[in-house]
Amino acid sequence: MKELLERKKGLRRNVLIVDDDYIAREILGKILDNQYEISYAENGVIALNIIKREKLKLSLVILDLHMPQMDGYSLLKLLRSDNELRRIPVIVLTSEKGAEVESLKLGAADFITKPFDMPEVICARVGHSIELAEDSVIIHETERDELTGLFHKEFFFQYGKRLDELNNHMPMDAVMVDINRFHVVNELYGRRYGDQVLKTIGESLHELVSKNGGIACRRDNDQFCVYLPHSDEFKDKLPQYIAVMDKRINDSSISLRFGVYSDDGGEKCMEQRFDYARLACQKLRNSYVSCFDFYNDEQHSKELYAERLINDMDKALAEKQFRVYYQPKYSISGSRPQLSSAEALIRWFHPEFGMVSPGQFISLFEENGLIQKLDQFVWNEAAAQIKLWKDKYGIGIPVSVNVSRVDIFNAHLVGILESITRQNGLKNPDLLLEITESAYTDDSDQIIETVNTLRNIGFRIEMDDFGSGYSSLNMLTALPIDALKLDMKFIRYICEKPKSARLVGIMIDIARLLEVPVIAEGVETKEQMELLKKLGCDIIQGYYFSKPLPPEEFGALIEKELKEAEYAYN
Ligand code: C2E
Ligand code: CA
Ligand code: CA
Repeated sequence: MKELLERKKGLRRNVLIVDDDYIAREILGKILDNQYEISYAENGVIALNIIKREKLKLSLVILDLHMPQMDGYSLLKLLRSDNELRRIPVIVLTSEKGAEVESLKLGAADFITKPFDMPEVICARVGHSIELAEDSVIIHETERDELTGLFHKEFFFQYGKRLDELNNHMPMDAVMVDINRFHVVNELYGRRYGDQVLKTIGESLHELVSKNGGIACRRDNDQFCVYLPHSDEFKDKLPQYIAVMDKRINDSSISLRFGVYSDDGGEKCMEQRFDYARLACQKLRNSYVSCFDFYNDEQHSKELYAERLINDMDKALAEKQFRVYYQPKYSISGSRPQLSSAEALIRWFHPEFGMVSPGQFISLFEENGLIQKLDQFVWNEAAAQIKLWKDKYGIGIPVSVNVSRVDIFNAHLVGILESITRQNGLKNPDLLLEITESAYTDDSDQIIETVNTLRNIGFRIEMDDFGSGYSSLNMLTALPIDALKLDMKFIRYICEKPKSARLVGIMIDIARLLEVPVIAEGVETKEQMELLKKLGCDIIQGYYFSKPLPPEEFGALIEKELKEAEYAYN
């Protein structure tokens, strides 16, 4: 603590001089302004305003006793009786004998006599009063944590805020330290051992702030906070600090996590800095080795956004913010492209964010299982739509729906799909199921079993994103599938890169071997379509024909198709 005060000597404290005598104010100001930031007031009323406004910043008030409006005695009394203002020391200016005693009785820290003494004496008195006052604040409130010797949380934050004020909000880094599974350590090895660990951490953090400045506290049971002057090198040095701490703790079953908010000049307050440090720390939960992370604004807003999407999903379903769009697939093996089926793709019209693309929420919902609810919504919508078109146009347009890998692990999947087709008056083959190739490689036994069951009751399976999931060729021959859907990325450059076209050719050969049709998606140009046709591709999906459409607009495509078919027939 002493060291901290030493360091703090380098910074300029704020002193308020209150005197109605202009000359006296100026002389005192000149004597002190080398070392202090000086402000002036010419009577007690003005002074009180300034003191209230600057209460956290002010280190000392020098007060003349005789002034118009509010005199020094009254102001001194007022300051001493105010809980918040009491901590600011006051030096009284006086030229009368006896006034010193009275003002000291009222709580003045010291006095300076007029006419002024030697400047060194005045500076010494001022410096001394400030130091004493700061020390007394510290001693008074430094009820340290008994076990670790670090500050208590309350004092830590109170003192840190004051440091911020005194230092004119210089950049500070906030570090949150937490022990992984500390309760287990306590349970397994006993509280005494746990206490020893906390003590060791306390010592290390104490050293850290002794070397680098700053303050540290034990926040809760096994959580610590460190508030340090910002340094760009901290990032590089942190791993070393952690290594030293690990070595001291000397127990491989104990790992620490460090969340750091590194000051970016954004003028955050101390509490905010620690909120961010805590967020960074929380993400590292339960790692088996000590680790650290720095709070990152951009990442944080992404996480907040993701969290919003997760929280909003149920309401969005209830309020029909989700809509299912349909992208046509065209068979290109005949003389003219023929509408053969469609893929159902979800769209989210969020009241605040506008159209949110599935790329932003599908994997998010897969992580927490919410995808199942959403997928079932899509399957139901698609099934109802197939039925509607069937009734309206008299033809069945098979629609494929995406089945997420998470759905496959739902033991009721088969029953759910069956009841959806049944309840919508469809047959199972009317609903095509797209399952991404990488799901097959996750847990092939389980998936093969489920897919076999689905196929046995009439569902047809398209392997989605083929080529990106790295199935072994050997495994492919054993897979129960009805169509291969090439991953879009293979199509993008087929016209520009001969190797790309060759690769697609090979994949089409594999499909031939498996005796299933090939679907190419992401086809955007006529050239791509023609090349794919030449390579033997059967079905095309992509912007070249149409982007995904709301069902009303898709209806127009069906009508057009019916007309063309009729024309070709006649
Ligand atoms: P996917 O299943 O591979 O779907 C194809 C994606 O390619 C769709 O993106 C589609 O709009 C887009 N696309 C179609 N033609 C073209 C084209 O010519 N050029 C380009 N650049 N893109 C084209 P979308 O709708 O944004 O969906 C992205 C992914 O989100 C889908 O990839 C699918 O994995 C997932 N997804 C969409 N809807 C659902 C759903 O209801 N359930 C589940 N589980 N996943 C879904
Ligand atoms: Ca798909
Ligand atoms: Ca795909």
